[in-house]
Amino acid sequence: MPAMKENLGLPWPSVKKHTKFLDRPESLPQYKGSHFLSMNLHEYQAKELMARHGVQVPPGHPATSIDEANEAIQQLFDTGHKSVVVKSQIHAGGRGKGTFKDGFKGGVHLADCPEDANAKAEAMFGNILVTKQTGEVGKQVNRLLITSAQKIKNEYYVAVLLDRSKGRPIIMASAEGGMNIEEVAEESPEKIFKETIDPDLGLQAYQGRKIAIALGLRGKLINQCGRLLQCLYDTWAGCDASMLEVNPMALIENEDGTESVVALDAKMSIDSNAMFRHPDIKAMRDISEEDALEVEAGKHDLNYIKLEGNIACLVNGAGLAMSTMDAIKHYGGDPANFLDVGGGATQEQVKAAFEIILSDPAVKAILINIFGGIMNCNTIAQGVVAAAKETDLKLPLIVRLEGNNVEAGRKTLADSGLPLITAESMAEAAQKSVEAAK
Ligand code: ADP
Ligand code: MG
Repeated sequence: MPAMKENLGLPWPSVKKHTKFLDRPESLPQYKGSHFLSMNLHEYQAKELMARHGVQVPPGHPATSIDEANEAIQQLFDTGHKSVVVKSQIHAGGRGKGTFKDGFKGGVHLADCPEDANAKAEAMFGNILVTKQTGEVGKQVNRLLITSAQKIKNEYYVAVLLDRSKGRPIIMASAEGGMNIEEVAEESPEKIFKETIDPDLGLQAYQGRKIAIALGLRGKLINQCGRLLQCLYDTWAGCDASMLEVNPMALIENEDGTESVVALDAKMSIDSNAMFRHPDIKAMRDISEEDALEVEAGKHDLNYIKLEGNIACLVNGAGLAMSTMDAIKHYGGDPANFLDVGGGATQEQVKAAFEIILSDPAVKAILINIFGGIMNCNTIAQGVVAAAKETDLKLPLIVRLEGNNVEAGRKTLADSGLPLITAESMAEAAQKSVEAAK
């Protein structure tokens, strides 16, 4: 994590890669968000949930085809809206300042007539958008949000999330909203206001007003913004969100000349452990936005997270998997994934796991670290041998097996004819895998 984490004492939700194990020191691997930890939503979905909880959002319609987009555009103009915004829906921020692979600039566009809006929708749909948060590969735009354009007078940043050091929810806000909040956090953290929330009480009215005043709002807007912030917190708590970010929350001028505060953007992720309570939110999952390997792993009940390194790990138990990655880091290597095959994995699961880690082209060595408490070491060994033979494995395979039925497991591996590197301890295994990957 960059230095701003220290400044805020908090995880920063807009940071390029959402880190999920936030208390870990910087030297340790930072893990990318994954469905089994939290599920990301599209802007239009988050706005729908926010609206249900009373947050003011401009009218709009999602579209999954050009026809749907054109219909939505027509509907907004027909109902009296003078201009619309066509917004690419991808699981990444920075869309406004992004650029499409074909050179078309901006994933968020204003249009003053249906023809222009249709043309913008056409330019975005199916096109690949590259933003600060997508990485070079970008993300294909398969959905659009067509929404009413607002006359913006000021933009603010607001986020609700969990402050792990306090063990409480927190709301953060800044008058320096809009598209460059990361820089504010880095260069002038004092411009970000924080209010800790008592989860038994929710965000209190006075707290909402306090933030509104800190943001520079005056008169009637103080109460209106305060109320919006309370509704925003209610959305976060009611949906079991791990993060809800509104950037910008905007002060707008209405048709009749009055002013109000509304949410113009939304980024939200839901704690997967609470998903069983929200079938409606679960139905919002967009698998096409998720890492294909992670989705495949999920089908086999494997806890897999793709990482950026080149040493693949196959481990039983989440704690041991974390320690294994730390050990790899300690010896100067980089794990290619987190993978916990669980305590009672079957041979089929092990084989599936092996195939998944092998389909990552970055992998240069494979480290298998099994401590068989419940796990039968021979099950792992048989799964590995079957998968290695089937995939005609050429990569170095480092194995550390210990525990239940270990002798049989070692024999299975030794008899397999596979070119194995064996290790007695986890440290030795990590060290050998780092050398092998070089
Ligand atoms: P991102 O954060 O991914 O760039 P946003 O939704 O924040 O996407 O849009 C980028 C910018 O576009 C906003 O900061 C805002 O200035 C403008 N914008 C977004 N939605 C609207 C809207 N409904 N009306 C007017 N301007 C908008
Ligand atoms: Mg935004």
